[in-house]
Amino acid sequence: MKPIREFEKHYQVVVVGGGLSGMCAAIAAARNGASVALIQNRSMVGGNASSEIRMHVVGANCHNSKPNMMETGILLELLLENKHRNPYHTFSVWDTIMWEKVRWQEGLDLYLNTCMETAETKDGIIQSICCFQNSTETRFIFTGDIFIDATGHGTLGVLAGATTRVGSEGRAEFNEPNAPEVPNTDTLGNSLMFQAVDRGEPVEFIRPEWAYRFSEEDLKYRSHVESVRSISDGGEPTEYEAGASSKLPEFYNLDSGYWWIELGGQYDDIIAQGEEIRDELARCVYGVWDHIKNVSDHGAQNYDLSWVGFIPGFRESRRLEGQYILTENDVRANRVFKDAVAYGGWPMDDHVRGGIMDFDKNPSRCFNFEGCYSIPYRCYISKDIGNLMMAGRDISTSKMAYGSIRVMGTCAVGGQAVGTAAAMAIRYGIQPPEMAEHMDELQQTLLKQDCYIPGYANHDPADLARTAKVSCSSAAEGCSAENVINGITRTVGSESNVWESAPLADGPAWLRLDLPKAQTISEIRLTFDPNLSREIMPSITAMVRNRQCKGMPDELVRDYTVELRNNNETVYTQHVEGNYQRLNTLKLPEPVLADSLILTVTATHDYPAARVFEIRLY
Ligand SMILES: Cc1cc2nc3c(=O)[nH]c(=O)nc-3n(C[C@H](O)[C@H](O)[C@H](O)COP(=O)(O)OP(=O)(O)OC[C@H]3O[C@@H](n4cnc5c(N)ncnc54)[C@H](O)[C@@H]3O)c2cc1C
Repeated sequence: MKPIREFEKHYQVVVVGGGLSGMCAAIAAARNGASVALIQNRSMVGGNASSEIRMHVVGANCHNSKPNMMETGILLELLLENKHRNPYHTFSVWDTIMWEKVRWQEGLDLYLNTCMETAETKDGIIQSICCFQNSTETRFIFTGDIFIDATGHGTLGVLAGATTRVGSEGRAEFNEPNAPEVPNTDTLGNSLMFQAVDRGEPVEFIRPEWAYRFSEEDLKYRSHVESVRSISDGGEPTEYEAGASSKLPEFYNLDSGYWWIELGGQYDDIIAQGEEIRDELARCVYGVWDHIKNVSDHGAQNYDLSWVGFIPGFRESRRLEGQYILTENDVRANRVFKDAVAYGGWPMDDHVRGGIMDFDKNPSRCFNFEGCYSIPYRCYISKDIGNLMMAGRDISTSKMAYGSIRVMGTCAVGGQAVGTAAAMAIRYGIQPPEMAEHMDELQQTLLKQDCYIPGYANHDPADLARTAKVSCSSAAEGCSAENVINGITRTVGSESNVWESAPLADGPAWLRLDLPKAQTISEIRLTFDPNLSREIMPSITAMVRNRQCKGMPDELVRDYTVELRNNNETVYTQHVEGNYQRLNTLKLPEPVLADSLILTVTATHDYPAARVFEIRLY
């Protein structure tokens, strides 16, 4: 057999990095018609959300403290699929669900175990990247029209010669109130996580010789037992629990790793020294576990390590400079940009440079704000490489805004926006910056594909439902039937934007759209309510799992029938049983002429009434 085979492949869109941002970018680009390659250097997709690192996906809803803010689109589709098939939050099952969405996506080729090593750029345009797939001893040269850097580190950008930023800007640069007076190159650190289980009998822990020793005094600012809560109480919330409220919720748990076992923030080069930092982190993880098991009584006699991560999660490295740099002021002002394509709401979450070794400091500083902000398209396109887009944590922000955009929910919706824009640019035969001229079309496409852009509503002229007269069997107060065509698919402030019927126990609920005249219909899109205020993501932390609903979200419509009529004669009927997704797209086998639609809901997953946010007709 011949070692080191070499192949050249061409794709319209090449995405490097298979974390949630890269996955969503690749899926969106493929669904919008582009030929796509997703290059991932690991044996699985998901990045920090996969079983390699096991971070739970958080986002603008800040662990349920900002109502109705949860991300939708491809991310929600993945999470609902997982909720349906993985009730006990098994991470390898979640890995498989993420993998299958990419693997079986038409138009998308996934290259696992494939590391991008070099890039060739000519006249400010990336021509190709060279990658090595270690599982098959194969070298690939990928040529592409548009490249998306979703590596987290901005590696493709660096290889292509794009401008990067590391660390904090000084306060004066963007006039950010909480930026340091003087710029610095400190980053947030890396972490290794762990999981522990109660074995039902005492389990001994033998400390490896190389592990550090930590005293109660060393860990006094790091909540791991009840006794240290009083010190942190009223202080800064933890990374996981930071929300709109600054009250520290209960988060001392023995069953999963501590985000504050963190190192690397003050190293000269957090990427180049990554191996050294990992070894130090291993000494810290086993040292903290020794502290919990052997130093004083933490109620952990029966607890035993069931998993310890060995690939450190990176929080921060480089950011690539785009056509706009999002700042703390944009975040605080909940700014709605003209070219908004995504949004965030997580607090600006900064950490101490020394990580766990900064014994005398709270490990994080969280700057909370009300509401959510939009992220402009310009943050996702390189300012100096014409065909380079960014998705994930390497997008164009200041360090202050970075503290908020870096969470995976925000990375994922940004990824979907970038992938959608890339496919549209391919269709128009233009480079990503020229998409500015097609911003309305991009925003409308994102809304149609179940993304949320604060301040924007459906005004798609192709949506025939918008002209309909709406009637229904019954409507709860403030939840009228007309809401299904008002263009907004979630509750915002005091506007419910939903149709809610009377209790289904009184009989099936129906909603009817009457079009001004008969039209040719080929597709029906229904948007239901999975309760965007309550988390459903997989988590290694019992407290986070236990506060989630059992089974599918109660509010989701489960069984329904859609009927199209023309002159009161049925021309198409579809009955759906067991639905568990928010966006249901029903493609008709062939177009029909119809002047009305009747949706009849017979069951939800447990909520007493039907709830529908939107109906679209194409
Ligand atoms: C300890 C820790 C706790 C955190 N807590 C949370 C939390 O609770 N919730 C939350 O939402 N976020 C959390 N974050 C932040 C979040 O995980 C990251 O900001 C987020 O994962 C970034 O997404 P991404 O897609 O940009 O990168 P990643 O998730 O890192 O994905 C990038 C992928 O690209 C691959 N890649 C890199 N270079 C190459 C290359 N050259 N060739 C091919 N592939 C490449 C990487 O292996 C990786 O799989 C935490 C981070 C850490 C480290």
